Amino acid sequence: MPGDARHDLVVVGAGIVGLAVAREALLRRPGASVVVVDKEDRVAAHQTGHNSGVVHGGIYYEPGSLKARLCVEGARLMYDYCEEHGIPHERCGKLVVAVADDELGRLDALELRGRANGVPGLRRVGADEIREVEPNATGLAALHAPNTGIVDYGAVARAIAAEVERLGGEVRLGVEVGGIVAEPGGDGARVDVTGVGTGGPSVLAARRVVVCAGLWADRLARGAGAPADPRIVPFRGAYLALRRTAEPVVRGMVYPVPDPDLPFLGVHVTKHVDGGVTLGPTAMLVPARDAYRLRTLRGRDAWETATWPGTWRVARRFWRTGATELRMAASRRAFVEAAARYVPSLTLDDLDGTTHAGVRAQAVARDGSLVDDFVISTTGGVVSHLRNAPSPAATSSFALARELADRVGL
Ligand SMILES: Cc1cc2nc3c(=O)[nH]c(=O)nc-3n(C[C@H](O)[C@H](O)[C@H](O)COP(=O)(O)OP(=O)(O)OC[C@H]3O[C@@H](n4cnc5c(N)ncnc54)[C@H](O)[C@@H]3O)c2cc1C
Repeated sequence: MPGDARHDLVVVGAGIVGLAVAREALLRRPGASVVVVDKEDRVAAHQTGHNSGVVHGGIYYEPGSLKARLCVEGARLMYDYCEEHGIPHERCGKLVVAVADDELGRLDALELRGRANGVPGLRRVGADEIREVEPNATGLAALHAPNTGIVDYGAVARAIAAEVERLGGEVRLGVEVGGIVAEPGGDGARVDVTGVGTGGPSVLAARRVVVCAGLWADRLARGAGAPADPRIVPFRGAYLALRRTAEPVVRGMVYPVPDPDLPFLGVHVTKHVDGGVTLGPTAMLVPARDAYRLRTLRGRDAWETATWPGTWRVARRFWRTGATELRMAASRRAFVEAAARYVPSLTLDDLDGTTHAGVRAQAVARDGSLVDDFVISTTGGVVSHLRNAPSPAATSSFALARELADRVGL
């Protein structure tokens, strides 16, 4: 690591959002000195490499919210990027299926949202048309979003990292940020780092800093003087893989009508770009921010979750949902039954025995609300923290990068 003159931009986090921010900066200011650092030894090590791989259409989000605007714009930019860079993707479409009478009103509300958000091609379909779109799905009515698609976000992140380096930026892996201090007078910031090539604790000087630290976003923000509220509470999402068959059980994606009080979309059946199909993800509060295995427990993570008043308020409010999630964690049968409500042919025999999981960086406010929208906070005028960027932040990443670049004055 060179003596490090002052960089124009330091980005913390080599997930898809941080990398997209670095790319955006280099496109806006060719020749700028841009460095991305990540504590892991590879890009996309956390949420970006552990998700459903869905390019969301923008149906679910409150009209006017950052999620609504940036998801619709981000999906368009994501498809453009994949086409330009030859990254496999497919606009295979998605159905949100109502299977019970009491879900029809919620489907109406979703349709209104989707239309207000300008989701391309969104249409309402009846029971017969559900079968035309997805022969193995069943329900009373559904929303069909033909522009919703699939991609491997890890592959997109690796392509962006290569582009950042081609444009003259640097991606430094194995470098952990311990703290960020804005200099007085809005004149830049100091980023304290340790790790590979740093020769012990050292400092990166930067004119601007953008922090896209996902599951650890709240810690870096707090340390930099931002308010303690909201806190990241890790929610694990587990998937079960289906056996490969000549004709996959779905042509695209089939989702349930979600609980409007929760930011999670419910167990869905999703095709992936490698041809596999998964059921999931569940949503279970876990005692580690990297709980890819169910038994992982980290003292600091567990302590921070347990001492946050919002956690207990969420637990009280959603104890029924929590019990269902626990049942699915304990029983594959319960898991498959959740998906079989709208794809009835699914049985335990369809599972191939493999599972994988991701952990959502969900911000929970002190009052117990699950923060719905993306949250960006700025300290000292030159440091921007992305504090809540769960789904659909991968879909939205190129649009989020533009938003973050604007906010930090790039
Ligand atoms: C189960 C699940 C399913 C999902 N499904 C979808 C989907 O289908 N579609 C969609 O659009 N979104 C989906 N998402 C959400 C999406 O994956 C995330 O919103 C997105 O990947 C966030 O990207 P990011 O770059 O902000 O964070 P991340 O990918 O988590 O990257 C953050 C990076 O910061 C680094 N970091 C943290 N702290 C430090 C530090 N102190 N020093 C150095 N580096 C640090 C981490 O190592 C990490 O690499 C899903 C998420 C999960 C968990």
